[in-house]
Amino acid sequence: MDLFSYLEKYDYEQVVFCHDEASGLKAIIAIHDTTLGPALGGCRMWTYATEEDAIMDALRLARGMTYKAAAAGLNLGGGKTVVMGNAKTDKSEALFRALGRYIQSLNGRYITAEDVGTNVHDMDIVHTETNYVTGISKAYGSSGNPSPMTALGTFRGMQATAKVAFGSDDLAGKTVAIQGLGSVGYGLAEHLKNVGANLIVTDINDEAVRRATVELGAKAVGPSEIFDAQCDIFAPCALGAIINDDTINRLRCKVVAGSANNQLAEERHGDILHEKGILYAPDYVINAGGLMNVADELEGYHQERAMKKVESIYQIMLDIYRISDEQKIPSYKAADHLAEQRIEQMKHVRSTFVKR
Ligand code: NAD
Repeated sequence: MDLFSYLEKYDYEQVVFCHDEASGLKAIIAIHDTTLGPALGGCRMWTYATEEDAIMDALRLARGMTYKAAAAGLNLGGGKTVVMGNAKTDKSEALFRALGRYIQSLNGRYITAEDVGTNVHDMDIVHTETNYVTGISKAYGSSGNPSPMTALGTFRGMQATAKVAFGSDDLAGKTVAIQGLGSVGYGLAEHLKNVGANLIVTDINDEAVRRATVELGAKAVGPSEIFDAQCDIFAPCALGAIINDDTINRLRCKVVAGSANNQLAEERHGDILHEKGILYAPDYVINAGGLMNVADELEGYHQERAMKKVESIYQIMLDIYRISDEQKIPSYKAADHLAEQRIEQMKHVRSTFVKR
């Protein structure tokens, strides 16, 4: 692997390798870009097949966070930590404290949070060594579970997308097919029910489906049938890569708008949606409500302020569709463009000398 060529290609700032023999810590902290502010990104714990896989995951995810924070209008950069190890068997107090000390040594250039394989308890341990951690227990001033804010942001982003696709953001009478009724999907279903939308739902968890049919009057379909459902909006809220060669021609909707990460199996699937006239709500923007919520902790958490920020997803989505329309590019590219443009503009703003 030619690491420095890769760093150069995507303009990474810093990669930190953390090793602590006693606790068995092997971690990589990747900082992609801090133009807008400190790099924020979760800490993933995973059994990687090779060290190269771990490095690439950290780099890829860190860059994704730069785009997500920039498009969301946050004053944060992009970073990520990966801890190499088994999240079920390799965790210890010493390991997360050792990691916390490495994060502290970066003096605020990077702020961590929980991610796949780590949880609030792990972050509380990290917090004993550093203040540069979010998503800790509520008792320490955290904002708690971000999912309701992610659901709200997805709902507002869906309304904005409907405004462009159907000429109105009123979702009453619109049929929305939701894949996944977990923390976000169920919350989204509740928002939709409240404004009079018709729901088609699926989940591999039968209890979640039963609850949605009883409480929300949703129509249930099997997990593989959701792609064929005749609907106005398809809302992926479960897995990544669900817009792929097998599913893309089955979709019978005008809009794809949901919370799942990495919905497009490959970028070309975003091009195909565009060609088909299906409006795709870029995933990393529509699902930024949780990040916006956690980012608010850095100022001393204020729920109303966080909610106002989450509401701004509506306008951000409209801006993305405007760029897509003006530049005749698919919406996923327009989202990247918006993020890159903001970083470039802020670089310029910061070039003016101000005495501190
Ligand atoms: P979750 O684990 O609570 O819910 C996921 C749901 O999907 C579960 O009910 C699960 O049974 C269901 N599911 C899994 N495989 C399925 C399949 N093949 N078909 C149908 N249903 C299936 O997760 P969540 O927190 O609700 O997140 C949902 C998605 O949104 C994920 O992709 C997540 O990465 C993304 N996301 C979540 C947040 C957040 O704040 N929670 C923020 C940003 C992005």
